[in-house]
Amino acid sequence: MSFLVVQTSFLGDLVLTTPLIASLAERGAVDVVTTPAGAPLLANHPAVRRVIVYDKRRADAGFGGLWRMARTLRAGRYDAAYMAQGSVRSAALVVLAGIREIVGFNTSAGRFLYTRRVRYAKDRHHAERLWTLGARAGEAPAGAIAPRLYPGEAERASVDRLLRDVPRDGAPYLALAPGSIWGTKRWPHFPALAKRMAPVYRIIVVGGADDAPLAAEIAAAAGSERIVDATGELTLLASAELLARCAALVTNDSAPQHLASAVGTPTLTLFGPTVPAFGFGPLAPRHDTAGVEGLACRPCDSHGPAVCPLGHWRCMRDLDVSHIEGAVHALLHP
Ligand code: SF4
Repeated sequence: MSFLVVQTSFLGDLVLTTPLIASLAERGAVDVVTTPAGAPLLANHPAVRRVIVYDKRRADAGFGGLWRMARTLRAGRYDAAYMAQGSVRSAALVVLAGIREIVGFNTSAGRFLYTRRVRYAKDRHHAERLWTLGARAGEAPAGAIAPRLYPGEAERASVDRLLRDVPRDGAPYLALAPGSIWGTKRWPHFPALAKRMAPVYRIIVVGGADDAPLAAEIAAAAGSERIVDATGELTLLASAELLARCAALVTNDSAPQHLASAVGTPTLTLFGPTVPAFGFGPLAPRHDTAGVEGLACRPCDSHGPAVCPLGHWRCMRDLDVSHIEGAVHALLHP
């Protein structure tokens, strides 16, 4: 048997698709269609036979790109396609590829092209929802649903290089991920938290190159000698390797929490305009979440708006530093 998994949405969603991929791999070979940004995350993954890059916004944009990709997939002669991303375009892709069995959620835009529709269980974690796409009738997960990534030698070497000059004083690493592409998801008190934690922990700021100004604010507050600024320095898979070496991660509701889940790093996720009940919270064996309870406007958006529509942004501003500091200690010393 051979299966195709289509996941071209956000990087975090791709990480959360790995339990589905792993379960399908127990029954056959699994190829994955994903974005250029997502493809490197699946390097070394033992459950993935082949990663097929679909650059739907650039090189493969438009009907010509869709047709070319469909022809590539047709050669794979897949027994079934699993639609972890639910657009009409993705559904059309696998139809054009001649795949007879197409499985996806009953809420997806492309569902009218599916041959089997699976209930989108709003009350479950998204990793479990995705896993159910590949489940047999009545089948339940054997244990906890946990995403997995597999950093390799190249990732270990790049993290070794990053940490080469960090003093070996025994201070545990505490990772902070202050960024998010959605402005209202960015907790504004990371610098204050770093200042409190820096006397005991070596603070590692993770994120993309766009997060460098946030890392600079953290360094200014906590003292640059206590900070390792990893923003823009590592690939996503190498960031997972770095997180695997950290005692814990404090993060907004964004991709780093899923990287940490995939390598088992204890995680505290700070929720503002979104809530864990959406199904995208941390899954590391030890994890916690924090958010302002009793705020009538919260949650206000499935992702988080760029700016607070009410102007006060209390969902993040009121998330108190002392409370978060206590939650970090509780996570680190259960
Ligand atoms: S409306 Fe409420 S939940 Fe939404 S961003 Fe503003 S404070 Fe946060």
